[in-house]
Amino acid sequence: MTQDQGMTGFNILLNAALNKSTAFTEEERDRLKLRGLLPASVGSQATQIERVLENLRRKDSDIERYIALMALMGRNERLFYRTLMDHIDEFMPIVYTPTVGQACREFAHIFRQPRGFYITPQDRGRIRSILDNWPTDDVRVIVVTDGQRILGLGDLGANGMGIPIGKLSLYVACAGIQPNQCLPVMLDVGTNNKELREDSLYLGVRRERLEGDAYDELIEEFVMAVQDKFPRALIQFEDFLTPNAYRLLNAYRDRVLCFNDDIQGTASVALAGVYASTRISGIDFSDLTIMFLGAGSAATGIADLMVEAFKDKGMSEEQARRRLWFVDINGLVVKSRDDLAEHNLPYAHDHKPLSFAQAVKEIKPHVLIGATGAPGAFTQDIVASMAKINERPVIFALSNPTSRAECTAEQAYIWSKGRVIFSSGSPFAPVTLNGKTYAPGQGNNAYIFPGIGLGAVICEAKHICEDMFLAAAKKLAEQVTQEDLKKGSVYPPLNAIRNASLEIAKAVAQVAYDQGLANAPRPQALEQAIADYMYDPYY
Ligand code: NAD
Repeated sequence: MTQDQGMTGFNILLNAALNKSTAFTEEERDRLKLRGLLPASVGSQATQIERVLENLRRKDSDIERYIALMALMGRNERLFYRTLMDHIDEFMPIVYTPTVGQACREFAHIFRQPRGFYITPQDRGRIRSILDNWPTDDVRVIVVTDGQRILGLGDLGANGMGIPIGKLSLYVACAGIQPNQCLPVMLDVGTNNKELREDSLYLGVRRERLEGDAYDELIEEFVMAVQDKFPRALIQFEDFLTPNAYRLLNAYRDRVLCFNDDIQGTASVALAGVYASTRISGIDFSDLTIMFLGAGSAATGIADLMVEAFKDKGMSEEQARRRLWFVDINGLVVKSRDDLAEHNLPYAHDHKPLSFAQAVKEIKPHVLIGATGAPGAFTQDIVASMAKINERPVIFALSNPTSRAECTAEQAYIWSKGRVIFSSGSPFAPVTLNGKTYAPGQGNNAYIFPGIGLGAVICEAKHICEDMFLAAAKKLAEQVTQEDLKKGSVYPPLNAIRNASLEIAKAVAQVAYDQGLANAPRPQALEQAIADYMYDPYY
């Protein structure tokens, strides 16, 4: 954004979207009545970044860096985004997982400035009218949570607002969604976390969670209010408890423009990693047997998309499901069990019950994917079994944050004697074993959701369909170079993410145009149209 919206003087310095601080030129200082309000030296954005980095790097902890970065976002948006974009490896783990997990836990204690939109049960009947309080009309991406299952950290109530804020900053940094078109939303329906309710600084509604019909009705009112106020907005459901996540996705996916990142975004990024892993293992995707530890929303979402991926290779739905096995806290998911949730039933096989360790040995998966939130679930015995069965075992420990990963990168490499193709949900530092350094990629949803959002914004999608996530996974896997694979990564480097998002957006928009799911006409030069839209924080 270059126009100053007619604002002058001190107000410009207080407006994060317009403020350039010491980078205002001599001419701008005269024209915008900034004389006297700034120190004499006119600095470039690069000099400002140098100062920001110096300040961030001398802080003692990542949570302090998080606080400083959020403050920068509130002061000088373009400087914040350029810092994040140019140093995405360093700062994505701060503005998103793992540090955002700590930021959410401590949200009420580190709170400085309200950001985003809060809706409570008291707003029943007036959600549409309070949305008018939001300062802009052209919102295109909404990330909404009710804070009940924040990362792997459980019910954090209104503290969960850190997640929509963090995710939307990645929509901007990774895909160039315009910041003023983003809206973080907290559906603060209370919390069952007693400790939080009793925290004197807690900022949310101090009551047990709203549930049942009243909960569904509040969500329905919110979704419909969004349709009226922001008709082109994509709603991303985020970190809802699994049964709610499924119910809401199923209730709204065909009615409005929405998706669930924990289910569908995770699926797409994991599928991309598995696609890329076959280039190392040499095993054809259609020949894979895949086992999941954890049978919740993340794992089931991945399996559902894998069914589509197998079908894409010419298999029937039934043949596809036979390649996919689940183990949960009670063992192998089999037909004879009577404790299964509805979303488990399509994957419950006719097989005798087995423990996890037995299941790995007997079913012999090529790929093992953990989405449990249970640290240490991939023991030495499990990793060694995978390495015995496979020349190049594929092991993804997806649970977030880092402290919840099913095993660490180091354990996976050591226990498999360096043969594992490893990936994780949160980042791990490179591992050196017998003189070889492995830099495992992070199966970070940020490779997928920003591109999905960008594609949806460009074509003004009516709905988000599974084919879009399949197309996104293929596109992401294509971005992985031989050099990435050699380093042990099944994902491109994070600093290539903007280009990956653009490619994914193109693929997503193509699916929308081809399937009649786009409201906007197909542009003559799609790639150019996307590039022209993308937010540019440089000044
Ligand atoms: P969920 O609560 O819906 O499911 C958890 C599942 O794990 C349940 O089926 C449960 O039975 C099983 N489980 C728990 N402990 C277990 C154990 N010790 N052994 C076997 N099974 C066990 O949660 P979810 O939404 O599916 O998320 C699970 C994890 O996946 C979270 O930690 C989350 O951070 C992670 N996740 C990662 C990504 C990513 O990396 N891209 C994306 C989304 C979710």
